[in-house]
Amino acid sequence: PELFAPERVNSKGFDLSHTPDLERIEAARAPFETHEWQASSLIANAAQAGQTVAVSNPYDPNQTVGSATLASPQQIEAALNGASAWSEGPAECRAILHKAADLYEEHYGELFALLAREAGKTLLDCVGELREAVDFLRYYAERTTNETPIGTFTCISPWNFPLAIFTGQISAALAAGNAVLAKPAEQTPLIAHFAVSLLHEAGVPRAALQLILGAGDVGAALTSDPRIGGVAFTGSTETAKLIRTNMAKHLSPDAPLLAETGGLNAMIVDSTALPEQAVTAIVESAFQSAGQRCSALRCLYVQEDVADTMQEMLIGAMKELCLSAPWDLRTDVGPLIEAEAQIQISDYVATARAQGRVLYELDQPEKGHFVPPALIDVNGIADLEREVFGPILHIARFKASELDQVINDINDTGYGLTFGLQTRIDDRVQHVSERIKAGNIYVNRNQIGAIVGSQPFGGAGLSGTGPKAGGPLYLSRFRKVDALQSDG
Ligand code: NAD
Repeated sequence: PELFAPERVNSKGFDLSHTPDLERIEAARAPFETHEWQASSLIANAAQAGQTVAVSNPYDPNQTVGSATLASPQQIEAALNGASAWSEGPAECRAILHKAADLYEEHYGELFALLAREAGKTLLDCVGELREAVDFLRYYAERTTNETPIGTFTCISPWNFPLAIFTGQISAALAAGNAVLAKPAEQTPLIAHFAVSLLHEAGVPRAALQLILGAGDVGAALTSDPRIGGVAFTGSTETAKLIRTNMAKHLSPDAPLLAETGGLNAMIVDSTALPEQAVTAIVESAFQSAGQRCSALRCLYVQEDVADTMQEMLIGAMKELCLSAPWDLRTDVGPLIEAEAQIQISDYVATARAQGRVLYELDQPEKGHFVPPALIDVNGIADLEREVFGPILHIARFKASELDQVINDINDTGYGLTFGLQTRIDDRVQHVSERIKAGNIYVNRNQIGAIVGSQPFGGAGLSGTGPKAGGPLYLSRFRKVDALQSDG
């Protein structure tokens, strides 16, 4: 495949510093402020559905956002039997995926309302997420070909990018010619249902794209059936391991697993870094999206010589963070996705507090599943036992002579998703980036975010299988490799 994308234009999105853009968003979103959505599985063959569950707003848990009817075992069976790749040629598939991108862009009012109310996304995150979803649709649309698809792909996605990742997996599998069974996270069925309805409206045949709502048990059923040809999964490393085991037991040995998983992401700030730039990058990387990004900064290493100053500046910046309603433009940090996550992460902070390791934390807002951003003292990344998926930043100090040891410690976690470096020494950029094992390395900027087509995203080791999403090699894993390559 070509290594550089053909000339193309990414979605323009909205400029939140531009009043007319803000007014447009507000006018489009407002009608859906109290709307209640209904979602169900979208399966080509009829079969009796399962139980219906209520979906609530993470910022205002008493508010119902809608309800979702989960898939029954009969529906899962019907979906597996009814899956059928589309018979349209590449040109028609391409036109349909572009049409879907147009529909996504037209329906920003509903999509922003859903992202804010079902997933607790801030306005800034809503804009970024819609842009990425549209970019995935157009990028993969341009890469539809006549090559042989694999068959039926199960696409399993997380709640933290309920539109962009969900759409990215589906559009890639469809662009490669496969039939898709899409299983979104149980926390975000309404967004998924709305998105699949737009894809169907654009012309994707109902048997080529089916939506199956449910939790992990449904995901397990859809990854342990021999009728499945491959799996695209984004979520935690633990779930990826379970899926790998299920696939090994039940699927053909050729069936690909594309897994994009968790991270224990670090940033190194040396004594030559620009302090203001570093602090801005740290705050964005650790606390934007309430730290609920796989790319988020978890462990900050600051060179001893500047550590006191940096820590003071960082705490000063944290004091300014606004925790409030996701759709309020002043909000920097929104709620966590659900009560369970809030309880788990609050407990984690409480343990650190009892050990005297919490250097700073913000106050708890009155309502919503918030965990206030906190800064926790550690000796190094080895003290982090697992990915804490929230606005919790760990900080460690290092001496100049310990730089290579720090790099080794970061690599020794086994994860390899994002890494950040703040320095003004060019040789150091080269030295560190040659040694760090991470999918995406960010220098002198924040370490979250990626741009479809120009900055593909994905990890190594425990963070994922590659190839990177939004990059030229991604689609190749959704197509049949020739027999010689797959042999042995
Ligand atoms: P999760 O692993 O709990 O769930 C992800 C999906 O897997 C959900 O749809 C869930 O229903 C399904 N699932 C659960 N058990 C299953 C099973 N046994 N078989 C099949 N499917 C099953 O993850 P989450 O909490 O939804 O998302 C957060 C995680 O996702 C974090 O670890 C984060 O780092 C990771 N993530 C990674 C990337 C990336 O690009 N690398 C992007 C976003 C999120």
